[in-house]
Amino acid sequence: MSSRPLAIFGGTFDPIHIGHLSVAWEAAELLDAEVRLMPANVPPHRPAPLASAAERVAMLRVALAGQSRLALDARELGREGPSYTIDTLRELRDEQGERPLVLLLGADAFAGLPGWHRWRELFDCAHIGVLSRPGVDAVLPEALAREAASRRVDDVAALRTASCGKLIELAVTPLEVSATRIRELLAEGRDPRYLLPGGLFDDPALLQPYRR
Ligand code: ATP
Repeated sequence: MSSRPLAIFGGTFDPIHIGHLSVAWEAAELLDAEVRLMPANVPPHRPAPLASAAERVAMLRVALAGQSRLALDARELGREGPSYTIDTLRELRDEQGERPLVLLLGADAFAGLPGWHRWRELFDCAHIGVLSRPGVDAVLPEALAREAASRRVDDVAALRTASCGKLIELAVTPLEVSATRIRELLAEGRDPRYLLPGGLFDDPALLQPYRR
């Protein structure tokens, strides 16, 4: 098997910021993959987003305009109730046949994996690519460390020889940017224009959900 992997980068994107874009772009380059950004509807393990699903999609569309490697996949927003990653990956597996799938997770999200619904089954559907993130403690919960040990590979080429089941660390350029910090700045009436994709400032309505 040697087909171009499809990588999924899920998140709340409340709002999308340059940390997301930069790591997704670098992962696309490192893996030579198609990367889809996939906004989550009702994230099972975190508070509800400030922006509605439609508002987050509008920001993603602006952020992703005019480039070739990153695309939007809004399928989870069409679903009722919590969006579980395992359901999404199973759906993608049915659509994509044997094509390698890669679930991209920031190091913080990866360390929290044992809290996810049917987390071990994620490896039955996809590889996992862990993106380095500044300030994240690398100590993994024991169950995850055990699972990771047998799956870890160093060479991205290994992700093309199987459709799922491997784990790779992707050393992307560290950018200490978070949506939390951006929401705080906007709520204070500040203007974090260089932490956000440029187009978000062209339409003042896009950032309205974060201004108090
Ligand atoms: P919040 O501050 O609201 O928790 P966030 O900035 O972490 O948001 P999410 O939408 O929750 O953004 O993140 C989606 C995915 O992007 C997660 O896997 C997260 O780890 C990853 N991610 C976000 N920001 C970065 C960054 N600066 N570097 C690497 N990974 C990141």
